[in-house]
Amino acid sequence: MMITNTSIPLQRLVSGDTLCIHTFACVGSKPGPSVYLQGNLHGPEILGGALLVRLIEFLSTQPDINGRLTIVPLANPIGVQSQEYGFQFGRWNAQNGKDWNRIFSKKIVLTGHGDSIEQKLASTLQTLANGHDTVLDIHTSGRRSIPHLYVASDSADYFAPLAGRCVLTVDEDDYLNAFDESCVASAVKEGRKTQAATWEAGTHGTIGATELEERFQNLLGFLSSCGVLPAASDFKPAAAVPTFPLKSVRTLYADSSCYIVWVTEPGTTLRAGDIFARAYDPSNGQSSDCFAPYDLFLITQYPLQAVSDGQELAKVVRM
Ligand SMILES: [Zn+2]
Repeated sequence: MMITNTSIPLQRLVSGDTLCIHTFACVGSKPGPSVYLQGNLHGPEILGGALLVRLIEFLSTQPDINGRLTIVPLANPIGVQSQEYGFQFGRWNAQNGKDWNRIFSKKIVLTGHGDSIEQKLASTLQTLANGHDTVLDIHTSGRRSIPHLYVASDSADYFAPLAGRCVLTVDEDDYLNAFDESCVASAVKEGRKTQAATWEAGTHGTIGATELEERFQNLLGFLSSCGVLPAASDFKPAAAVPTFPLKSVRTLYADSSCYIVWVTEPGTTLRAGDIFARAYDPSNGQSSDCFAPYDLFLITQYPLQAVSDGQELAKVVRM
């Protein structure tokens, strides 16, 4: 079917060249839901970008869909360029430290002359997503993690095919100016209902071929279950996964300086006192075990393995 590609100018560079947001619109002949999908809002979170290109290619081979899809594979062409020595680090604007997923607001603000690049990006993306009844923002988490989903409790069933291995439910008072929750809030202000989620589909800076294919099948399962694509005959409903309130999420910090080597995998439940890693201390030439300080469910291991006292090790749920 026909897919319309539009380029929206975002930022004129010193060179005179212009960075654009490339959007792909796919409109079916039959009524159905309207779904907005975006990836790579944070610079290193590249899996979502490739995943959405895979989807666009797939859709171009399909005869029709129900409803309409708007797809933005690369939501942040500035962030993805933050690269140094083989690593991508564009969670924040490298110039001012602003987190690219904390720039949105409950009301869409149209920008003009003299506004910041964060305001321009927020306005462009929120305007694109506005009017869709479903919004999915695809991210990744850490060096190793299980696929997981941030979603409001009353939308958890709707996004279940994307749940992966864990769901974190978000309350209204958890509002942090993130994209998904801002789309929900701005729709409410206009008297409409939008269901939105943030999908942590993989890990930073990598796209594995197998992982890409598995997440693509999850995405097709979701688009079938919400009615955009015909139900696939081999589609299996997702099994129930552990669900926790966002308020129970904690950061695990290093309590000594060391090289840390993980001996547990994301997706593991640990009891207080269980060993989760081995710490190698270059100041005394000895190694020791690291113990869980409380009962926890391990979601993400953060990238750094040379850590000082008090640095982040992992995202966990305190049980
Ligand atoms: Zn992210």
